[in-house]
Amino acid sequence: MDINGILANLNSSQHAAVSSAADTLAILAGPGSGKTHTLTSRTAWLLAQGLQPWNIIVATFTVKSAREMKERIGKLIGNGLESKLILGTFHSIARRYLARYGHLIDIKKDFGIADSADSLAIIKRIIKRNRFMIDPKVARNRISGHKSRDQPPGSQKTPKSVEAQEFEICFTEYEAALKISNLLDYDDLLLRCVELLRSHPSCISNVEAVLIDEFQDTNLVQFDLMRLFAAERKRITIVGDPDQSIYGFRAAEIKNYKRMLRQYPDTVTIALEENYRSSGSILLAALGVIEQDTSRVARLLMPTHTVGTRPVLRKLSGAYKEAEWIVMEIQRCRGLTGNLLDLNDIAILLRSASLSRLIETALGKAGIAYKMVGGLRFYDRVEIKTILDYLRVINQPDNNDALARIINTPSRRIGEATIKLLLEEANRGKVSLWSLILRSVQGNQTLAIKLQKQAEQGLSKLVNMIITGGKKLAGTLKERSTITEIIEFVIEKTDYEKWLEVHHDDVHKGRWDNVQELITQASDFQDLVTSGYEDETLPHVEGLKQEDDDNYLSRFLANVALASEVKNSEEEGAPIAQVTISTIHAAKGLEWPVVFIPATYQGSIPHSRAEDGDEERRLLYVAMTRAQALLYMSYPLKSSSGEAATLSPFLAPPSTTRLLEKRGPSLGSHTVQSISQILRRDLPSVSSISESCSSLRSIEDDIFPVDGEDSKEAESKFNSLMGIPTFSLGQQAPKRRRVE
Ligand code: ATP
Ligand code: MG
Repeated sequence: MDINGILANLNSSQHAAVSSAADTLAILAGPGSGKTHTLTSRTAWLLAQGLQPWNIIVATFTVKSAREMKERIGKLIGNGLESKLILGTFHSIARRYLARYGHLIDIKKDFGIADSADSLAIIKRIIKRNRFMIDPKVARNRISGHKSRDQPPGSQKTPKSVEAQEFEICFTEYEAALKISNLLDYDDLLLRCVELLRSHPSCISNVEAVLIDEFQDTNLVQFDLMRLFAAERKRITIVGDPDQSIYGFRAAEIKNYKRMLRQYPDTVTIALEENYRSSGSILLAALGVIEQDTSRVARLLMPTHTVGTRPVLRKLSGAYKEAEWIVMEIQRCRGLTGNLLDLNDIAILLRSASLSRLIETALGKAGIAYKMVGGLRFYDRVEIKTILDYLRVINQPDNNDALARIINTPSRRIGEATIKLLLEEANRGKVSLWSLILRSVQGNQTLAIKLQKQAEQGLSKLVNMIITGGKKLAGTLKERSTITEIIEFVIEKTDYEKWLEVHHDDVHKGRWDNVQELITQASDFQDLVTSGYEDETLPHVEGLKQEDDDNYLSRFLANVALASEVKNSEEEGAPIAQVTISTIHAAKGLEWPVVFIPATYQGSIPHSRAEDGDEERRLLYVAMTRAQALLYMSYPLKSSSGEAATLSPFLAPPSTTRLLEKRGPSLGSHTVQSISQILRRDLPSVSSISESCSSLRSIEDDIFPVDGEDSKEAESKFNSLMGIPTFSLGQQAPKRRRVE
């Protein structure tokens, strides 16, 4: 193991931290300053000092960062021993200990883990049984809050209000239910591990050093775990950034740093002051946001990269336009940089996952592959797929596949085998499944297989429903039902909500919410078509017979089909480049060359239901500081639910807007050079850049007229108004500035 190799490429503060002899070390520094990099190097350095991998615990915040860290350590030490490190999230490390030693505290072997949907299902059952009034989700979050503060049921003062009493019973019964099913929930994994290590400290006797990333988001139980992991030997390294604390809603405590100093008075604190991630202007804009928090402790953070392209703040007329603009920008900036950037370089970060659907649709339509981090794609969810199948059949009953899928969903007592036989019979007679059952229901033909009475009735109801649905689509435009009305018709006729409840009891509410979301989407789409925004009619050609305009439902279905199309290429297994769509919370610690943050309006960020405005601001700060070379923020004048939207107050102050550009960046060769410098990549050939620039210029002008003004003129006016000098490549980054 080469110590010099481990210490190479570190700046002096990072070097000091990595090779520090201190027993307890705290590295507090801003985003992109190399905290994770330093923690990784310190782990390698400890190994080089003679520690064995099983002497070291490294706790990360996400599974993804655990994997990345392990890989980087592997590269630094080069002997393959990184796989023996005790490295993972707090939960996964705790689970490992409980699986090995849980029997010491009466945890049954092979315990299961209750995820949040399981927990919710249990709580719902309890609430139902007791006829309580409390909301299950609220109860679950409160239970988790209590558990992560190590407050078991009964630890509160005697509850007075009815609600508090109900909660207390719910909490007690929930704990009992988990025990009976031999389940541990997420909080239990940590709590029981604390219990284990307290009562049997020898379990941890081989551990000599503990390293923790993202310390600002640890909660009290995790803090206790850290102390128990380190036991008497006290070799602790923590890295964190109070400005990025975004898990307060899950009982994370910034106070843990103070606790640390109290517990370990000899802690050596090291600051890292250079940002290696983002261009100068992205960093300045992000600091402009976080500095609005006057209660924070000032910390120095200066860019190491050139100024680069100013972040963009764009206002769009609506949420649809916003999604389309993002797609156009993705294509434009890839084209204009001569494909220096690929799809993996691009992330779209959202305040809440529900904002994703319009963006998914727009990306899908443009044939841009994407992956959702932590969540199924909207159209892939079973409750949505089933409704879409009904719509497909109503629109086009001969769609055999769709009809075969819904024929027994919800149950009509027609089993898989029968469906297969029916399909075969239809096939033999060279008719569609629909024609076959229609003839039989209408008494024109007897089926080859004899159906039971109930199945026959079910089938006949289905046929009537499809016929009635079809009629709703016929007639003049005025007479036709809207897409929403047809979806509602399907829901009513199939008793869909009840079916979801019976068959998907545990997660029924979430599924029903998704169905509601589909209705909103359909109604948005219909508005769009009627307003002429999404006009797909072709010009009439003289002398050619023209089909009537297709109905709204078929257009809607086509739209959906195009949006899900990309999925197939992914299923074929070829690793393809994909844009990442993620929540801001799940993007912690990660970085991308190009970052989009849509929906930066009041109500989305800060979120209307958020309790802590400062945490919302930090969330935006975390999102902005994920970007390396290009940062796009945008908001629609109307939110996706149709309400008027205004710019997030975090971006509104003149000091911040000064740092943002209102039109897209003109991606000239300077920008391309600075992007490649930030990303340390080879420049694409100059000719390919200028070629793509000239071919795309007209589109650019089309996209970025600034309220009727000539965009170049508007830019220089804007610049001089705001006192922004024009930086060029190679120029010194702005002076060191102390953030106060
Ligand atoms: P966050 O707060 O977002 O978790 P961080 O402080 O953990 O950020 P890292 O992810 O470790 O920052 O580093 C950010 C980027 O800077 C990474 O691409 C890393 O490789 C790079 N980097 C870190 N230190 C140096 C250095 N001394 N020289 C060059 N690049 C560096
Ligand atoms: Mg990090």
